[in-house]
Amino acid sequence: PKSPWGRFDPYNNNEDQDKEYVGFATLPNQVHRKSVKKGFDFTLMVAGESGLGKSTLVNSLFLTDLYKDRKLLNAEERITQTVEITKHTVDIEEKGVKLKLTIVDTPGFGDAVNNTECWKSVADYIDQQFEQYFRDESGLNRKNIQDNRVHCCLYFISPFGHGLRPLDVEFMKALHEKVNIVPVLAKADTLTPSEVKKKKIKIREEIEQYGIKIYQFPDCDSDEDEEFKQQDLELKESIPFAVIGSNTVVEAKGKRVRGRLYPWGIVEVENSAHCDFVKLRNMLVRTHMQDLKDVTRETHYENYRAQCIQSMTRMVVKERNRNKLTRESGTDFPIPVVPGVTDSETEKLIREKDEEVQHELESHQHQHGHSHKCEHSSEQYVCSNTQAGSETHSERTMEDEAL
Ligand code: GDP
Repeated sequence: PKSPWGRFDPYNNNEDQDKEYVGFATLPNQVHRKSVKKGFDFTLMVAGESGLGKSTLVNSLFLTDLYKDRKLLNAEERITQTVEITKHTVDIEEKGVKLKLTIVDTPGFGDAVNNTECWKSVADYIDQQFEQYFRDESGLNRKNIQDNRVHCCLYFISPFGHGLRPLDVEFMKALHEKVNIVPVLAKADTLTPSEVKKKKIKIREEIEQYGIKIYQFPDCDSDEDEEFKQQDLELKESIPFAVIGSNTVVEAKGKRVRGRLYPWGIVEVENSAHCDFVKLRNMLVRTHMQDLKDVTRETHYENYRAQCIQSMTRMVVKERNRNKLTRESGTDFPIPVVPGVTDSETEKLIREKDEEVQHELESHQHQHGHSHKCEHSSEQYVCSNTQAGSETHSERTMEDEAL
């Protein structure tokens, strides 16, 4: 039987082999075994107006009924409903590899008469997951952290509009720095191939024009073969993926396939001549799942973490600043303890900020000729200052906002 350690077999006392290998060639196999044992997880969010086929597509993608106990609301209920976030988790297994899949849905999105800021609860949800992870990571037990961060958001664009609607632009712009957005053109079977082509071009242009940063597929290495490069190019040109979903199996050309049966014919979900469903599924599951997770961790979460540390630092500085302004003698005031902020990054920021504060205090004292002895609000402080003070104002307002 083939060795589970690859070409190098640590239990084989073959001298030739020992001469040839130190043994680190087994590292990928060790990683592989460990991760298979641990299992994988992935969190996918679906967003877009209700009725665009989100739940049908998710069921088609993972071949499971993730929405068994879903309650459909009537029009009146939908209008009054606010955007709520629902989470479904399933454990799926394929050839011994376990995947814990979480689907986050956003029912009610875009349903109200006034949809101003209806993306807010979605943004808050994503931030909450980051916050939870940040807390867990700074806590004592970091071993078994439950990672609920959202790795990808499939954003459904209506096939009936002329490109993006204002709500689509608003949503994507509000979320593009928090999550990997993958736009999809919903219900593509309602459009002819040339309409799909035109709409895709229009949507891609608008994404560019509005400065929306959707998920970028990583560039392929220069040593990749031509076939791979071609596939990569096709994938990039498929954006937004034109998708079709179906919960039913129909018979087409003697084969049973997932599709939609119309009086004039059958549209097959997994037929790449009919739509980009297979491309999307391959991208999500087979080729880019790990990259989506990496970008979430390395870019989106890192941004959140940096902002968090920055605002905590501002809090500390503000506190010290106030202490310095209110104290009468040269006694040192203690820095308030902020949980989880002990790393050198924070200390550096505090040092930098401290110097700024010192400078600010000096210029303030210079103007007033004495140290300020009051519990003044930021406005008072600004009012009594000249031009130099306007800078101070923005600084202070930022600190106030951070609080
Ligand atoms: P959701 O509210 O976005 O989750 O939408 P649903 O998945 O509940 O779908 C709403 C309706 O659209 C249902 O009647 C589906 O059968 C239908 N539907 C779903 N996907 C497609 C599709 O790709 N094409 C067409 N024509 N109809 C679809």
